[in-house]
Amino acid sequence: MSDSTLILWFRRDLRLADQPMLAAAAASGRPVVPVFILDPETEALGAAPKWRLGLAVAAFARALDGLGLRLVLRRGPALEVLRAIVQETAAGGVWWSRLYDPASVARDTAVKAALKAAGLEARSFAGHLLHEPWQIETGAGGFYRVFTPYWKAMRGLAVVAPEAAPTRLRAAKSSPAGDRLEDWRLGAAMNRGASLVLPHQSVGEAAAREKLAAFLAGPVHRYAEMRDFPAVAGTSRLSENLTYGEIGIREVWHAGLRARDEGKAGAESFLRELAWREFSYHLMHHTPHITTRNWKPEWDDFPWRGDNPEAERWRMGMTGEPFVDAAMREMYVTGTMHNRARMIAGSYLTKHLLTHWKLGLDWFADCLTDWDPAANAMGWQWVAGCGPDAAPYFRVFNPAGQAEKFDPGGDYRRRFVAELSRAPGPEALAFFQAVPRSWGLDPKAPYPAPLVDLAEGRARALAAYATRKA
Ligand code: FAD
Repeated sequence: MSDSTLILWFRRDLRLADQPMLAAAAASGRPVVPVFILDPETEALGAAPKWRLGLAVAAFARALDGLGLRLVLRRGPALEVLRAIVQETAAGGVWWSRLYDPASVARDTAVKAALKAAGLEARSFAGHLLHEPWQIETGAGGFYRVFTPYWKAMRGLAVVAPEAAPTRLRAAKSSPAGDRLEDWRLGAAMNRGASLVLPHQSVGEAAAREKLAAFLAGPVHRYAEMRDFPAVAGTSRLSENLTYGEIGIREVWHAGLRARDEGKAGAESFLRELAWREFSYHLMHHTPHITTRNWKPEWDDFPWRGDNPEAERWRMGMTGEPFVDAAMREMYVTGTMHNRARMIAGSYLTKHLLTHWKLGLDWFADCLTDWDPAANAMGWQWVAGCGPDAAPYFRVFNPAGQAEKFDPGGDYRRRFVAELSRAPGPEALAFFQAVPRSWGLDPKAPYPAPLVDLAEGRARALAAYATRKA
């Protein structure tokens, strides 16, 4: 067996436990050089996810430090950087955990081929998902397009138990030089929002694990009933951690299974939501165009509007529709948005404002600290009606009706929309500090009148739907 140095190339797997690659590296006894690369694919991240990634990298570097390892930070195209580090360290191979979005797949395929052609070991590991997206097949051997049968197929499958964090890894004799994280200025595009959003983040593996434990000790009991109420802290809020791999999905799944076995009522629903995450990856693997084009091509002739002044008001959280504005403002203040609120805000943009879902997808990709390529794409296509297993287009969410149902006391709307209270709270006011000055927003200005009459907007959406050729 080779005893040559291994480069461990970290990306969205910034944790020590439940980490197949790291466990294999520890078991191999080979010297390792952990590396994080700011490559063009990573540079292309939106403002909020890029900033949040920086926090994750810093926390992970500290965790590796505890094992006596230095995370080497380098900037440049991944293959060039890896080749240079191979040279500097005389490494025999590069290992990484797999990613599944089209840009990462293209990069990793090219990297693997080039390293192998150079006689190096290039090995990728599972770890980001419970099951590899190609492992679950329909009876006929295809992929699933509908969630419920997918869930039936995956629900009973065994999930490998997570590996413990390695207690010892062998550091390579010399560690190559690297950049300073601060010099990358990953938060540059968040200059106004960062300090406001920061208190809402739980960064790193220990914080993620604590959050999971707290959720399973309390809210999980009533998760099925409460997960739709945005004013209630009824969900796990783990999306922020799962997206950067600060906690392993198999660890979360097994904890969910234990909770279910202990008779905690909402645990089964929680497992089902984790399966939605898997399903989004299953879809992205089999139909990568889900991230960029209508999943159903028959939607290509739909008269979506491109960017327009109403869409800009939507971005500004100034539509005059309180549930929609609360949703958008929650995103600027906390970095995330409640799932119910994502559906309402998305439906409003694509249906009441007849605006292309791609605009919403891109905006979320810029603003969410839990941005995930697969879940965001599936969510938007679902909301717009053009995706797999999507909400039928004619089911137009009425934001006012949804508010009555899911925010009956108005707590969520008041929490984020200052204009609705005589004495607005800190989060409602923080919104005005977080958003660009160029928007010229003032908490003392009157709340805007609704951009569209809800009934008229609905009728317009349905009329557009009726013109579709397909
Ligand atoms: P919980 O309710 O505690 O669920 C546990 C985990 O299950 C989540 O952390 C997440 O990993 C997964 N999950 C739950 N619901 C979904 C779902 N509908 N689709 C896929 N996975 C799910 N989720 C993201 O992680 N990143 C995104 O960029 C994203 N964009 C979305 C855009 C739209 C338009 C919509 C409708 C949904 C989007 N979602 C996205 C899915 C969902 O809103 C979030 O995963 C959820 O709100 C995260 O909160 P939580 O961690 O408390 O979830």
